[in-house]
Amino acid sequence: MGEKIAIDRIPVCGRIPHFNYKVVKQMYYHIWTIGCQMNVADSQRVAAGLERLGYTPTDRAEDADVMILNTCVVRQQPEDKATNRLNQLRSMKERYPERVLGLMGCMVGVKDPAPLRERFPWVDLFLPPSDPTELWSHLAENGKLSEAQTLIADAEARRLALGRTDTILPASEQGHVVNAYLPIVLGCSHACTYCVIPYRRGAERSRPMSAIIAEAHQLAAQGVRQLTLLGQIVDRYGYDLPEFGRSSETPLVALLREIHAIEGFKRIRFLTSHPNWMRDDLLDAVAELPKVCPHIEVPVQAGDDEVLTRMRRGYTVDDYRKLVARIRERIPGVSIATDIIVGFPGETKAQFDNTCDLLKELRLDKAHIARYSARPQTVATRRFDDNLSHEEKERRRKALDNLQSDILTEINARYLDETVDILVEGWHARRKRWFGRTTTDRLVFFDPVQDSGRDPGEAGRDTNRLGHIVPVHIEWAGPWSLVGKPAEE
Ligand code: SF4
Repeated sequence: MGEKIAIDRIPVCGRIPHFNYKVVKQMYYHIWTIGCQMNVADSQRVAAGLERLGYTPTDRAEDADVMILNTCVVRQQPEDKATNRLNQLRSMKERYPERVLGLMGCMVGVKDPAPLRERFPWVDLFLPPSDPTELWSHLAENGKLSEAQTLIADAEARRLALGRTDTILPASEQGHVVNAYLPIVLGCSHACTYCVIPYRRGAERSRPMSAIIAEAHQLAAQGVRQLTLLGQIVDRYGYDLPEFGRSSETPLVALLREIHAIEGFKRIRFLTSHPNWMRDDLLDAVAELPKVCPHIEVPVQAGDDEVLTRMRRGYTVDDYRKLVARIRERIPGVSIATDIIVGFPGETKAQFDNTCDLLKELRLDKAHIARYSARPQTVATRRFDDNLSHEEKERRRKALDNLQSDILTEINARYLDETVDILVEGWHARRKRWFGRTTTDRLVFFDPVQDSGRDPGEAGRDTNRLGHIVPVHIEWAGPWSLVGKPAEE
Protein backbone atom coordinates (compact mmCIF):
# COMPACT_ATOMS: atom_id res chain seq x y z
CA MET A 1 0.00 0.00 0.00
CA GLY A 2 1.06 3.68 -0.54
CA GLU A 3 3.57 5.88 1.25
CA LYS A 4 3.34 9.60 1.71
CA ILE A 5 5.49 12.50 2.88
CA ALA A 6 4.26 13.62 6.33
CA ILE A 7 5.24 16.97 7.73
CA ASP A 8 5.43 17.10 11.49
CA ARG A 9 5.69 20.69 12.57
CA ILE A 10 8.05 20.38 15.55
CA PRO A 11 8.95 23.72 17.17
CA VAL A 12 12.67 23.88 18.03
CA CYS A 13 14.43 27.11 19.03
CA GLY A 14 13.90 30.80 18.30
CA ARG A 15 10.94 32.05 16.21
CA ILE A 16 11.40 30.03 13.04
CA PRO A 17 9.74 26.62 13.31
CA HIS A 18 11.60 23.75 11.65
CA PHE A 19 9.87 21.19 9.55
CA ASN A 20 10.87 17.60 9.93
CA TYR A 21 10.27 15.73 6.68
CA LYS A 22 9.84 11.96 6.93
CA VAL A 23 8.36 9.25 4.74
CA VAL A 24 5.45 7.58 6.55
CA LYS A 25 3.19 4.76 5.42
CA GLN A 26 -0.20 5.89 4.14
CA MET A 27 -2.70 4.56 6.70
CA TYR A 28 -6.04 3.11 5.61
CA TYR A 29 -9.31 2.45 7.43
CA HIS A 30 -12.32 0.30 6.68
CA ILE A 31 -15.69 0.53 8.44
CA TRP A 32 -18.26 -2.26 8.03
CA THR A 33 -21.74 -1.06 9.05
CA ILE A 34 -25.02 -2.90 9.43
CA GLY A 35 -28.28 -1.88 11.09
CA CYS A 36 -30.19 1.37 11.44
CA GLN A 37 -29.60 4.99 10.49
CA MET A 38 -28.16 5.59 13.96
CA ASN A 39 -25.33 3.17 13.09
CA VAL A 40 -24.82 4.92 9.74
CA ALA A 41 -24.44 8.24 11.58
CA ASP A 42 -22.08 6.69 14.16
CA SER A 43 -19.89 5.13 11.45
CA GLN A 44 -19.72 8.43 9.56
CA ARG A 45 -18.37 10.13 12.70
CA VAL A 46 -15.71 7.48 13.21
CA ALA A 47 -14.73 7.82 9.54
CA ALA A 48 -14.57 11.61 9.87
CA GLY A 49 -12.34 11.30 12.95
CA LEU A 50 -9.96 8.86 11.23
CA GLU A 51 -9.72 11.05 8.12
CA ARG A 52 -8.90 14.03 10.33
CA LEU A 53 -5.97 11.93 11.55
CA GLY A 54 -4.83 11.37 7.99
CA TYR A 55 -6.32 7.91 7.39
CA THR A 56 -7.73 7.13 3.96
CA PRO A 57 -10.84 5.01 3.39
CA THR A 58 -10.54 1.62 1.65
CA ASP A 59 -13.31 -0.73 0.56
CA ARG A 60 -11.12 -3.75 1.35
CA ALA A 61 -10.79 -4.75 5.01
CA GLU A 62 -7.68 -6.72 3.98
CA ASP A 63 -5.90 -3.45 3.14
CA ALA A 64 -6.95 -1.54 6.25
CA ASP A 65 -4.74 -0.57 9.19
CA VAL A 66 -7.87 0.16 11.23
CA MET A 67 -11.02 -1.96 10.78
CA ILE A 68 -14.23 -1.16 12.62
CA LEU A 69 -17.32 -3.39 12.59
CA ASN A 70 -20.38 -1.38 13.57
CA THR A 71 -23.01 -3.89 14.55
CA CYS A 72 -26.75 -4.45 15.11
CA VAL A 73 -28.47 -7.05 17.29
CA VAL A 74 -32.12 -6.00 16.91
CA ARG A 75 -32.67 -9.50 15.45
CA GLN A 76 -30.60 -12.71 15.49
CA GLN A 77 -29.73 -12.48 11.79
CA PRO A 78 -27.62 -9.28 11.91
CA GLU A 79 -25.92 -10.56 15.06
CA ASP A 80 -24.94 -13.79 13.24
CA LYS A 81 -23.68 -11.72 10.32
CA ALA A 82 -21.37 -9.72 12.62
CA THR A 83 -20.09 -12.87 14.33
CA ASN A 84 -19.29 -14.42 10.95
CA ARG A 85 -17.47 -11.27 9.84
CA LEU A 86 -15.39 -11.26 13.02
CA ASN A 87 -14.47 -14.90 12.50
CA GLN A 88 -13.51 -14.21 8.89
CA LEU A 89 -11.17 -11.41 10.03
CA ARG A 90 -9.46 -13.55 12.68
CA SER A 91 -6.80 -15.07 10.41
CA MET A 92 -6.00 -11.67 8.86
CA LYS A 93 -5.66 -10.11 12.33
CA GLU A 94 -3.36 -12.96 13.43
CA ARG A 95 -1.25 -12.46 10.29
CA TYR A 96 -1.03 -8.66 10.86
CA PRO A 97 -1.26 -8.20 14.67
CA GLU A 98 -0.21 -4.52 14.33
CA ARG A 99 -3.48 -3.73 12.60
CA VAL A 100 -6.37 -2.49 14.78
CA LEU A 101 -9.70 -4.39 14.82
CA GLY A 102 -12.57 -2.77 16.67
CA LEU A 103 -16.11 -3.95 17.37
CA MET A 104 -18.72 -1.22 17.82
CA GLY A 105 -22.46 -0.74 18.19
CA CYS A 106 -25.26 -2.73 19.75
CA MET A 107 -23.33 -6.02 19.87
CA VAL A 108 -21.04 -4.25 22.38
CA GLY A 109 -23.79 -2.22 24.07
CA VAL A 110 -23.23 -0.12 27.17
CA LYS A 111 -22.31 -2.93 29.56
CA ASP A 112 -18.84 -4.36 30.45
CA PRO A 113 -17.44 -6.02 27.28
CA ALA A 114 -15.49 -8.67 29.23
CA PRO A 115 -17.64 -11.57 27.89
CA LEU A 116 -17.06 -10.33 24.33
CA ARG A 117 -13.33 -9.91 24.98
CA GLU A 118 -13.23 -13.55 26.07
CA ARG A 119 -15.24 -14.71 23.04
CA PHE A 120 -13.28 -12.64 20.51
CA PRO A 121 -9.71 -12.37 21.89
CA TRP A 122 -8.36 -11.22 18.52
CA VAL A 123 -10.43 -8.01 18.71
CA ASP A 124 -8.53 -4.99 20.12
CA LEU A 125 -11.36 -2.63 20.94
CA PHE A 126 -14.99 -2.79 22.07
CA LEU A 127 -16.71 0.54 21.45
CA PRO A 128 -20.21 1.32 22.83
CA PRO A 129 -22.83 2.63 20.37
CA SER A 130 -22.30 6.33 19.50
CA ASP A 131 -19.09 6.51 21.57
CA PRO A 132 -15.74 5.95 19.72
CA THR A 133 -13.71 7.80 22.40
CA GLU A 134 -11.59 4.75 23.21
CA LEU A 135 -10.51 4.41 19.59
CA TRP A 136 -8.64 7.70 19.68
CA SER A 137 -6.83 6.88 22.91
CA HIS A 138 -6.03 3.36 21.69
CA LEU A 139 -4.40 4.69 18.50
CA ALA A 140 -2.41 7.28 20.50
CA GLU A 141 -1.30 4.81 23.19
CA ASN A 142 -0.25 2.15 20.69
CA GLY A 143 2.07 4.41 18.70
CA LYS A 144 -0.25 4.56 15.69
CA LEU A 145 -0.25 8.32 15.74
CA SER A 146 2.38 10.98 15.27
CA GLU A 147 2.70 13.84 17.75
CA ALA A 148 0.51 16.07 15.63
CA GLN A 149 -2.11 13.37 15.16
CA THR A 150 -2.16 12.67 18.89
CA LEU A 151 -2.99 16.32 19.56
CA ILE A 152 -5.91 16.05 17.11
CA ALA A 153 -7.09 12.79 18.68
CA ASP A 154 -6.92 14.22 22.21
CA ALA A 155 -8.90 17.26 21.17
CA GLU A 156 -11.56 15.05 19.56
CA ALA A 157 -11.81 12.86 22.67
CA ARG A 158 -12.30 15.99 24.82
CA ARG A 159 -15.04 17.29 22.50
CA LEU A 160 -16.81 13.93 22.56
CA ALA A 161 -16.72 13.97 26.37
CA LEU A 162 -18.73 17.23 26.14
CA GLY A 163 -21.28 15.63 23.80
CA ARG A 164 -19.92 17.61 20.86
CA THR A 165 -17.90 16.76 17.82
CA ASP A 166 -16.31 18.68 15.00
CA THR A 167 -16.09 15.63 12.82
CA ILE A 168 -19.40 14.57 11.37
CA LEU A 169 -18.91 14.04 7.68
CA PRO A 170 -15.65 12.44 6.52
CA ALA A 171 -13.65 14.76 4.26
CA SER A 172 -13.93 12.10 1.54
CA GLU A 173 -17.73 12.51 1.54
CA GLN A 174 -18.07 16.27 1.92
CA GLY A 175 -19.69 17.79 -1.17
CA HIS A 176 -20.82 14.36 -2.41
CA VAL A 177 -23.40 13.54 0.24
CA VAL A 178 -26.93 14.91 -0.06
CA ASN A 179 -28.42 13.14 2.98
CA ALA A 180 -27.10 13.14 6.50
CA TYR A 181 -28.43 11.65 9.72
CA LEU A 182 -28.13 13.67 12.93
CA PRO A 183 -28.76 11.81 16.22
CA ILE A 184 -30.66 14.03 18.67
CA VAL A 185 -31.83 11.48 21.26
CA LEU A 186 -29.63 8.53 22.23
CA GLY A 187 -30.92 5.35 23.88
CA CYS A 188 -34.51 4.58 24.92
CA SER A 189 -36.34 4.30 28.24
CA HIS A 190 -39.52 2.80 26.86
CA ALA A 191 -39.74 -0.92 27.66
CA CYS A 192 -41.29 -2.74 24.76
CA THR A 193 -41.02 -6.38 25.81
CA TYR A 194 -39.43 -7.59 22.54
CA CYS A 195 -36.81 -4.84 22.25
CA VAL A 196 -33.11 -5.13 23.09
CA ILE A 197 -32.26 -1.47 22.36
CA PRO A 198 -32.66 -0.09 25.91
CA TYR A 199 -30.23 -2.79 27.12
CA ARG A 200 -27.70 -1.98 24.38
CA ARG A 201 -27.97 1.76 23.83
CA GLY A 202 -28.88 2.65 27.43
CA ALA A 203 -31.52 4.96 28.85
CA GLU A 204 -32.90 7.86 26.84
CA ARG A 205 -30.79 11.04 26.83
CA SER A 206 -31.27 14.07 24.61
CA ARG A 207 -28.19 15.77 23.15
CA PRO A 208 -27.67 19.47 23.97
CA MET A 209 -29.59 21.65 21.51
CA SER A 210 -26.56 23.91 20.96
CA ALA A 211 -24.43 20.92 19.90
CA ILE A 212 -27.12 19.73 17.47
CA ILE A 213 -27.50 23.20 15.94
CA ALA A 214 -23.73 23.59 15.59
CA GLU A 215 -23.50 20.23 13.82
CA ALA A 216 -26.44 21.07 11.56
CA HIS A 217 -24.69 24.26 10.46
CA GLN A 218 -21.55 22.25 9.70
CA LEU A 219 -23.47 19.71 7.65
CA ALA A 220 -25.23 22.42 5.64
CA ALA A 221 -21.85 24.07 4.98
CA GLN A 222 -20.48 20.69 3.83
CA GLY A 223 -23.14 20.40 1.14
CA VAL A 224 -25.84 18.33 2.88
CA ARG A 225 -29.25 19.22 1.50
CA GLN A 226 -31.46 16.79 3.42
CA LEU A 227 -31.13 16.36 7.17
CA THR A 228 -32.81 13.54 9.09
CA LEU A 229 -33.03 13.93 12.87
CA LEU A 230 -32.73 10.59 14.67
CA GLY A 231 -34.02 9.11 17.90
CA GLN A 232 -35.51 5.81 19.02
CA ILE A 233 -38.49 7.95 20.07
CA VAL A 234 -37.54 11.17 18.34
CA ASP A 235 -40.67 13.04 19.56
CA ARG A 236 -39.38 12.70 23.13
CA TYR A 237 -36.45 14.97 22.29
CA GLY A 238 -35.70 17.49 25.03
CA TYR A 239 -38.06 16.25 27.74
CA ASP A 240 -34.99 15.45 29.84
CA LEU A 241 -33.26 18.81 29.15
CA PRO A 242 -33.58 21.57 31.79
CA GLU A 243 -33.96 24.32 29.18
CA PHE A 244 -37.35 22.88 28.15
CA GLY A 245 -38.57 22.27 31.70
CA ARG A 246 -41.36 24.86 31.71
CA SER A 247 -42.04 25.09 27.98
CA SER A 248 -45.49 23.98 26.85
CA GLU A 249 -44.19 23.64 23.29
CA THR A 250 -42.90 20.21 22.21
CA PRO A 251 -39.10 20.63 22.34
CA LEU A 252 -38.71 18.93 18.94
CA VAL A 253 -40.79 21.77 17.47
CA ALA A 254 -38.33 24.35 18.82
CA LEU A 255 -35.45 22.34 17.33
CA LEU A 256 -37.18 22.00 13.95
CA ARG A 257 -37.69 25.77 13.80
CA GLU A 258 -34.00 26.40 14.53
CA ILE A 259 -32.83 23.93 11.88
CA HIS A 260 -35.42 25.21 9.40
CA ALA A 261 -33.72 28.62 9.57
CA ILE A 262 -30.33 27.23 8.50
CA GLU A 263 -29.36 28.13 4.91
CA GLY A 264 -28.58 25.18 2.64
CA PHE A 265 -31.06 22.52 3.78
CA LYS A 266 -33.84 21.85 1.28
CA ARG A 267 -35.49 19.05 3.23
CA ILE A 268 -35.72 18.11 6.90
CA ARG A 269 -37.03 14.78 8.23
CA PHE A 270 -37.22 13.09 11.64
CA LEU A 271 -37.62 9.48 12.77
CA THR A 272 -38.71 7.35 14.55
CA SER A 273 -41.91 8.55 16.28
CA HIS A 274 -44.01 6.74 18.91
CA PRO A 275 -47.85 6.95 18.94
CA ASN A 276 -47.89 8.19 22.55
CA TRP A 277 -45.69 11.22 21.90
CA MET A 278 -47.07 12.79 18.72
CA ARG A 279 -48.56 16.05 19.98
CA ASP A 280 -50.64 18.42 17.84
CA ASP A 281 -48.09 21.24 17.88
CA LEU A 282 -45.54 18.86 16.32
CA LEU A 283 -47.98 17.89 13.57
CA ASP A 284 -48.84 21.56 12.98
CA ALA A 285 -45.15 22.45 12.73
CA VAL A 286 -44.70 19.77 10.05
CA ALA A 287 -47.63 21.29 8.14
CA GLU A 288 -46.33 24.87 8.61
CA LEU A 289 -42.57 24.57 7.95
CA PRO A 290 -42.02 24.18 4.17
CA LYS A 291 -38.67 22.35 4.43
CA VAL A 292 -40.01 19.77 6.91
CA CYS A 293 -41.26 16.84 4.82
CA PRO A 294 -44.89 15.73 5.31
CA HIS A 295 -43.77 12.20 6.12
CA ILE A 296 -44.23 10.49 9.51
CA GLU A 297 -42.56 7.22 10.61
CA VAL A 298 -44.71 5.84 13.46
CA PRO A 299 -44.60 2.08 14.18
CA VAL A 300 -47.82 0.29 15.16
CA GLN A 301 -46.05 -3.11 15.52
CA ALA A 302 -49.34 -5.11 15.66
CA GLY A 303 -53.05 -4.69 14.85
CA ASP A 304 -54.39 -6.53 17.89
CA ASP A 305 -54.87 -5.11 21.39
CA GLU A 306 -53.94 -8.29 23.22
CA VAL A 307 -50.66 -8.53 21.31
CA LEU A 308 -49.96 -4.79 21.83
CA THR A 309 -50.49 -5.28 25.58
CA ARG A 310 -48.00 -8.15 25.70
CA MET A 311 -45.58 -6.03 23.65
CA ARG A 312 -46.10 -3.27 26.23
CA ARG A 313 -46.39 -0.64 23.50
CA GLY A 314 -48.68 1.54 25.61
CA TYR A 315 -51.55 2.19 23.20
CA THR A 316 -54.48 0.34 21.61
CA VAL A 317 -55.35 -0.28 17.97
CA ASP A 318 -58.05 2.35 18.25
CA ASP A 319 -55.55 4.87 19.67
CA TYR A 320 -53.36 4.24 16.64
CA ARG A 321 -56.32 4.52 14.26
CA LYS A 322 -57.23 7.90 15.82
CA LEU A 323 -53.60 9.05 15.58
CA VAL A 324 -53.49 8.28 11.84
CA ALA A 325 -56.71 10.25 11.37
CA ARG A 326 -55.26 13.18 13.36
CA ILE A 327 -52.01 13.16 11.35
CA ARG A 328 -53.95 13.12 8.04
CA GLU A 329 -56.27 15.87 9.23
CA ARG A 330 -53.47 18.21 10.40
CA ILE A 331 -50.86 17.60 7.65
CA PRO A 332 -52.27 17.87 4.09
CA GLY A 333 -50.90 15.24 1.68
CA VAL A 334 -48.97 13.51 4.46
CA SER A 335 -47.48 10.05 4.00
CA ILE A 336 -47.26 7.63 6.93
CA ALA A 337 -44.85 4.73 7.36
CA THR A 338 -45.06 2.06 10.01
CA ASP A 339 -43.24 -0.99 11.43
CA ILE A 340 -44.91 -4.34 12.13
CA ILE A 341 -43.62 -7.43 13.90
CA VAL A 342 -45.28 -10.69 12.87
CA GLY A 343 -45.15 -13.91 14.85
CA PHE A 344 -44.88 -12.38 18.33
CA PRO A 345 -45.02 -15.22 20.91
CA GLY A 346 -48.58 -16.49 21.20
CA GLU A 347 -49.89 -14.47 18.21
CA THR A 348 -52.90 -16.44 17.02
CA LYS A 349 -54.12 -16.67 13.43
CA ALA A 350 -57.06 -14.41 14.38
CA GLN A 351 -54.74 -11.84 15.95
CA PHE A 352 -52.58 -11.84 12.83
CA ASP A 353 -55.72 -11.36 10.73
CA ASN A 354 -56.51 -8.29 12.83
CA THR A 355 -53.15 -6.84 11.79
CA CYS A 356 -53.95 -7.56 8.14
CA ASP A 357 -57.35 -5.88 8.53
CA LEU A 358 -55.79 -2.80 10.11
CA LEU A 359 -53.32 -2.44 7.24
CA LYS A 360 -56.17 -2.82 4.72
CA GLU A 361 -58.19 -0.20 6.58
CA LEU A 362 -55.45 2.43 7.12
CA ARG A 363 -53.76 2.06 3.70
CA LEU A 364 -50.43 3.41 4.93
CA ASP A 365 -47.65 4.54 2.59
CA LYS A 366 -45.01 2.12 3.85
CA ALA A 367 -44.79 -0.84 6.20
CA HIS A 368 -41.48 -2.35 7.34
CA ILE A 369 -42.45 -5.90 8.26
CA ALA A 370 -40.20 -8.12 10.36
CA ARG A 371 -40.45 -11.59 11.88
CA TYR A 372 -40.30 -11.68 15.67
CA SER A 373 -36.78 -12.61 16.84
CA ALA A 374 -36.23 -13.55 20.49
CA ARG A 375 -33.49 -11.31 21.93
CA PRO A 376 -31.43 -12.03 25.04
CA GLN A 377 -32.30 -9.99 28.17
CA THR A 378 -35.72 -8.90 26.88
CA VAL A 379 -38.92 -9.39 28.90
CA ALA A 380 -40.56 -11.27 26.01
CA THR A 381 -37.71 -13.82 25.92
CA ARG A 382 -37.90 -14.31 29.67
CA ARG A 383 -41.68 -14.50 29.89
CA PHE A 384 -43.14 -15.78 26.65
CA ASP A 385 -42.64 -18.99 24.73
CA ASP A 386 -41.48 -18.24 21.18
CA ASN A 387 -43.99 -20.80 19.93
CA LEU A 388 -44.34 -19.94 16.25
CA SER A 389 -42.08 -21.72 13.74
CA HIS A 390 -39.77 -19.80 11.42
CA GLU A 391 -41.86 -21.06 8.49
CA GLU A 392 -45.10 -19.75 9.98
CA LYS A 393 -43.50 -16.37 10.79
CA GLU A 394 -42.18 -16.18 7.24
CA ARG A 395 -45.62 -17.12 5.83
CA ARG A 396 -47.17 -14.24 7.83
CA ARG A 397 -44.40 -11.81 6.81
CA LYS A 398 -44.91 -12.66 3.13
CA ALA A 399 -48.71 -12.39 3.39
CA LEU A 400 -48.46 -8.92 4.93
CA ASP A 401 -45.78 -7.84 2.44
CA ASN A 402 -47.99 -8.91 -0.49
CA LEU A 403 -50.96 -7.11 1.02
CA GLN A 404 -48.91 -3.91 1.44
CA SER A 405 -47.59 -4.28 -2.11
CA ASP A 406 -51.17 -4.38 -3.46
CA ILE A 407 -52.13 -1.33 -1.39
CA LEU A 408 -49.08 0.60 -2.63
CA THR A 409 -49.72 -0.31 -6.26
CA GLU A 410 -53.13 1.32 -5.92
CA ILE A 411 -51.86 4.32 -3.94
CA ASN A 412 -48.87 5.00 -6.23
CA ALA A 413 -51.05 4.88 -9.36
CA ARG A 414 -52.16 8.39 -8.43
CA TYR A 415 -48.65 9.66 -9.29
CA LEU A 416 -48.99 8.64 -12.94
CA ASP A 417 -48.86 11.60 -15.31
CA GLU A 418 -48.15 13.86 -12.32
CA THR A 419 -45.03 16.04 -11.94
CA VAL A 420 -43.32 15.72 -8.57
CA ASP A 421 -40.27 17.48 -7.07
CA ILE A 422 -37.37 15.09 -6.42
CA LEU A 423 -34.35 15.84 -4.28
CA VAL A 424 -31.64 14.02 -6.23
CA GLU A 425 -29.63 11.71 -3.95
CA GLY A 426 -27.47 9.89 -6.48
CA TRP A 427 -26.81 8.16 -9.80
CA HIS A 428 -27.82 4.50 -10.18
CA ALA A 429 -25.06 3.07 -12.39
CA ARG A 430 -26.86 -0.16 -13.31
CA ARG A 431 -30.12 1.58 -14.20
CA LYS A 432 -28.25 4.54 -15.76
CA ARG A 433 -30.71 6.80 -14.04
CA TRP A 434 -30.71 9.48 -11.36
CA PHE A 435 -32.67 8.70 -8.20
CA GLY A 436 -34.11 10.62 -5.29
CA ARG A 437 -37.27 11.01 -3.24
CA THR A 438 -40.45 13.01 -3.10
CA THR A 439 -41.21 14.85 0.15
CA THR A 440 -43.57 11.91 0.87
CA ASP A 441 -40.55 9.55 0.73
CA ARG A 442 -41.39 7.93 -2.63
CA LEU A 443 -38.30 6.58 -4.37
CA VAL A 444 -38.14 7.95 -7.91
CA PHE A 445 -35.78 7.07 -10.77
CA PHE A 446 -35.53 9.38 -13.76
CA ASP A 447 -33.73 9.42 -17.08
CA PRO A 448 -30.87 11.79 -17.76
CA VAL A 449 -31.61 14.54 -20.29
CA GLN A 450 -31.12 13.11 -23.80
CA ASP A 451 -28.06 14.57 -25.52
CA SER A 452 -28.23 13.51 -29.19
CA GLY A 453 -25.61 11.10 -30.36
CA ARG A 454 -24.14 10.33 -26.97
CA ASP A 455 -24.73 7.37 -24.64
CA PRO A 456 -27.63 8.60 -22.48
CA GLY A 457 -25.94 7.13 -19.44
CA GLU A 458 -22.76 9.09 -19.90
CA ALA A 459 -24.60 12.20 -21.12
CA GLY A 460 -26.87 12.15 -18.08
CA ARG A 461 -23.90 11.59 -15.87
CA ASP A 462 -22.44 14.87 -17.02
CA THR A 463 -25.26 17.04 -15.74
CA ASN A 464 -24.53 16.82 -12.02
CA ARG A 465 -27.97 16.89 -10.44
CA LEU A 466 -26.81 15.71 -7.01
CA GLY A 467 -28.55 17.74 -4.29
CA HIS A 468 -30.82 19.56 -6.72
CA ILE A 469 -34.62 19.59 -6.66
CA VAL A 470 -35.78 18.33 -10.07
CA PRO A 471 -39.42 18.31 -11.23
CA VAL A 472 -40.04 14.84 -12.69
CA HIS A 473 -43.02 13.77 -14.79
CA ILE A 474 -44.04 10.26 -13.64
CA GLU A 475 -44.54 7.71 -16.42
CA TRP A 476 -44.46 4.46 -14.45
CA ALA A 477 -45.62 3.61 -10.92
CA GLY A 478 -44.98 0.41 -8.99
CA PRO A 479 -45.40 -0.48 -5.30
CA TRP A 480 -41.82 0.33 -4.31
CA SER A 481 -40.72 3.05 -6.75
CA LEU A 482 -41.75 5.46 -9.52
CA VAL A 483 -40.02 6.23 -12.86
CA GLY A 484 -40.17 9.38 -14.96
CA LYS A 485 -38.50 12.03 -17.07
CA PRO A 486 -37.32 15.50 -16.06
CA ALA A 487 -40.34 17.76 -16.61
CA GLU A 488 -38.14 20.44 -18.25
CA GLU A 489 -37.27 18.08 -21.11
S1 SF4 B 1 -39.67 2.47 21.70
FE1 SF4 B 1 -39.71 0.30 22.12
S2 SF4 B 1 -39.12 -0.62 20.17
FE2 SF4 B 1 -38.50 1.50 20.10
S3 SF4 B 1 -36.38 1.51 20.79
FE3 SF4 B 1 -37.67 1.93 22.55
S4 SF4 B 1 -37.99 -0.07 23.52
FE4 SF4 B 1 -37.28 -0.41 21.44
